[in-house]
Amino acid sequence: MKMIELRSDTFTKPTKEMLEAMFAAEVGDDVFEEDETVKALEQKAALLFGYEAGLFCTSGTMTNQIAINVHVKQGDEVICDKLSHVYMYEGGGIAANSHASVNLLTGDRGRLTATMVEENIQPDNVHHCVSRLVSLENTVNKGGGAIYDLNEIRKIKEVCKKHNMALHLDGARIFNALVETGETPREYGCLFDSMSVCLSKGLGTPVGSLLLGTEDFIYQARRVRKRFGGGWRQAGYLAAAGIYALDHNILRLKEDHARAKEIAKIMLAHPEVTEILPVDTNIVIFSLKENLTSDDYTKQLLTKGIKAAPFGKHQVRMVTHLDFNDHHLEEFRKRMSGV
Ligand SMILES: *Cc1c(COP(=O)(O)O)cnc(C)c1O
Repeated sequence: MKMIELRSDTFTKPTKEMLEAMFAAEVGDDVFEEDETVKALEQKAALLFGYEAGLFCTSGTMTNQIAINVHVKQGDEVICDKLSHVYMYEGGGIAANSHASVNLLTGDRGRLTATMVEENIQPDNVHHCVSRLVSLENTVNKGGGAIYDLNEIRKIKEVCKKHNMALHLDGARIFNALVETGETPREYGCLFDSMSVCLSKGLGTPVGSLLLGTEDFIYQARRVRKRFGGGWRQAGYLAAAGIYALDHNILRLKEDHARAKEIAKIMLAHPEVTEILPVDTNIVIFSLKENLTSDDYTKQLLTKGIKAAPFGKHQVRMVTHLDFNDHHLEEFRKRMSGV
């Protein structure tokens, strides 16, 4: 039986057209800033979001960790939601790489408000960390793909300005938010001092994330990337996949969202499933009844030819993506009706 892959939108493989674009890339040594395809990707993404410059990196973890490292000094703190990828899923990188602390807030499905941020900024006295950076995530992975309200981000930006703090966006899935709300990349770009954008999630490239910011910020980020071991050579083969993805794979994300909603409907009909987070984009997170663990349930699903990810003890995540089409959805429906 052919497996239906729903663990993550990172399992996609490049299409023939993307591979052709990769093979045709003009490349050079990117550590010497001589890879024209990497430069073209960085400029294209920067322009799209209205930034001065971009830096192509191996992963979203790397772009986030570089950004944090540039923004904070040791002993400073990063204000973020407790569900944030930068806190939960980056190997303790804020502490290990930047010797910084976190001020974890509990938002609504991972989304903070300006009031929450302002109320939690540390007073300026010797007892406290300096609150230096606010890091937001859009969409929120652990919040079930939740989308931020752009007006709330504008208010958070005002708070950051007033208190002399930087604002970073973990936009691993920013395009999922944008296609859903109809907002433009530039409306976002002007609000954040730095932004991470993943190419290897919904956009379907094999590798790569972009960090965006001012010329000066990216200048510093390039040095940190080298220090982290992330300087690379003929990366243009991978950058070509990114250019292809930005040109072809953004608008189709809406299809992933529609299919995720269908998956949620199918799952809700099952007695093992007690609750499903609202499905705003391409992520479906549901809870299982108390006596059923996510490990056991995902093993049951495997016998039906469905791969889903345990996401906490009693929660399971399913993510739609480029390699999950209507045919796969109908097959999923069939297999689930047999559970
Ligand atoms: C996937 C993801 C990242 C980056 O992950 P990598 O696997 O390091 O590319 C960052 N933030 C969020 C919200 C993510 O979902």
